[in-house]
Amino acid sequence: MTDDCIFCKIVAGTIPCRKVYEDDEVLAFHDIHPVAPVHFMIIPKKHLASLAEAGPEDAGLLGRMLLLAPRLAKEQGLPDGFRTVINTGRGGGQEVFHLHVHIIGGAGPRPL
Ligand code: AMP
Ligand code: ZN
Repeated sequence: MTDDCIFCKIVAGTIPCRKVYEDDEVLAFHDIHPVAPVHFMIIPKKHLASLAEAGPEDAGLLGRMLLLAPRLAKEQGLPDGFRTVINTGRGGGQEVFHLHVHIIGGAGPRPL
């Protein structure tokens, strides 16, 4: 838990979220400003500011987060596929400095 981190507060339950999935080390919830009909994110419960702060000790955690993506996407109504986005650092457009994987799909513009 890091003070002033909005996603740590969501993990702690002090800020509400629309939960998609939770286990001991991972939480998934809907983005508050969706850019497509389905838009949620998968985050580690452990505070990692960004992908750039992850180390070898996080390899298993990162792998489990990615492996959850197709399963949760299917459950959320995206059987045909989805986009994954990880913004890293200010140069990468990251706004919330707690690592998160966006899962986006259903329709809408495809910026990349
Ligand atoms: P990024 O630019 O990758 O750091 O994206 C941060 C994302 O977090 C944005 O898509 C925001 O809409 C989303 N966001 C910010 N605050 C909340 C919140 N309280 N609950 C859900 N999503 C949020
Ligand atoms: Zn955090």
